[in-house]
Amino acid sequence: MLASHLRGGVDYPRNRVDFDGFFPDDQACLRYLERLRWLEGFVCPCCAHSGTPWRSSRGLLICRYCRKHASVLAGTIFHRTRTPLRIWFLAAWEITSQKYGANALGLQRVLGLRSYQTAWTWLHKFRRAMVRPDRDRLSGTVEADESYVGGEEAAVSGRQTVKKAIVAIAVELNDGKIGRVRLRCVPDVSASSLVGFLTDVAVPGSTINTDGWPGYGGLAGCGFDHKVTVLSASPDPAHVLMPSVNRVASLLKRWILGTLQGGIAKEHLPYYLDEFTFRFNRRSSRARGLLFYRLLEQAVRCGHTPTARLYKGTGRGPRPIKERKRG
Ligand SMILES: [Zn+2]
Repeated sequence: MLASHLRGGVDYPRNRVDFDGFFPDDQACLRYLERLRWLEGFVCPCCAHSGTPWRSSRGLLICRYCRKHASVLAGTIFHRTRTPLRIWFLAAWEITSQKYGANALGLQRVLGLRSYQTAWTWLHKFRRAMVRPDRDRLSGTVEADESYVGGEEAAVSGRQTVKKAIVAIAVELNDGKIGRVRLRCVPDVSASSLVGFLTDVAVPGSTINTDGWPGYGGLAGCGFDHKVTVLSASPDPAHVLMPSVNRVASLLKRWILGTLQGGIAKEHLPYYLDEFTFRFNRRSSRARGLLFYRLLEQAVRCGHTPTARLYKGTGRGPRPIKERKRG
């Protein structure tokens, strides 16, 4: 459903008082998720029969055709949760109602969770729901460059990188202003990484502005209008060559150092990029409740990630990597 058709106070809570009215108990949360998952009406996950289902005494839906029970939670991030849905909803509200999001420690405190690991796990489950795989691609004029995220490294310059993660960034420009963004961790700055990223995130025919790095050389052959600004031929310092990408990269780094307090593991960076993108592309949305709506909508439609897969494989069972405080 288009954002313009959604009404605050009717489709989503506008504030915390609304939130309490919307979700007095788990049954209300369940009905809300059913509405989000089956916007066009119930479709049986077993036999694809559509039509108003019955409801069992436990609140499950029963298909009138195959008579199988269907749970709106099955196969979503809430799969087999033992925690009341209302607490999950509060977590989603906490994550979306703050401009810069939440970190695991903050979430643990606000929700009164006994375990830091639970808060960490929930945040990561929500992060996996933040980017729709079928999202629209960027179009028009797009500025592209890479940025390096991670600790400071001495004696490494240019595009060499040792411990830092490389993040490819594409920024859509609307009348010179920053529009939507896409970010991706790439293993290197080769043509297959950079051109591969851009062909995934931008529609053919878009104009793509880059610097003279050979990794972008194949863009014209992929149906893009490639505009190159060569650094050495330009009197401007590097940061004004691709100013929009530079701005997005510095906001990303500030968010990682601020909200996440710098403590992110490289293998989880793709999901932090998803959260950054989710927030950034909705930054002008005045209704925070709309973000809450979108997050739950995607949470109930995206696949389920088993908790064990969220953890780094240490061989010693699940061990989360803490978002530690900077000393
Ligand atoms: Zn059925």
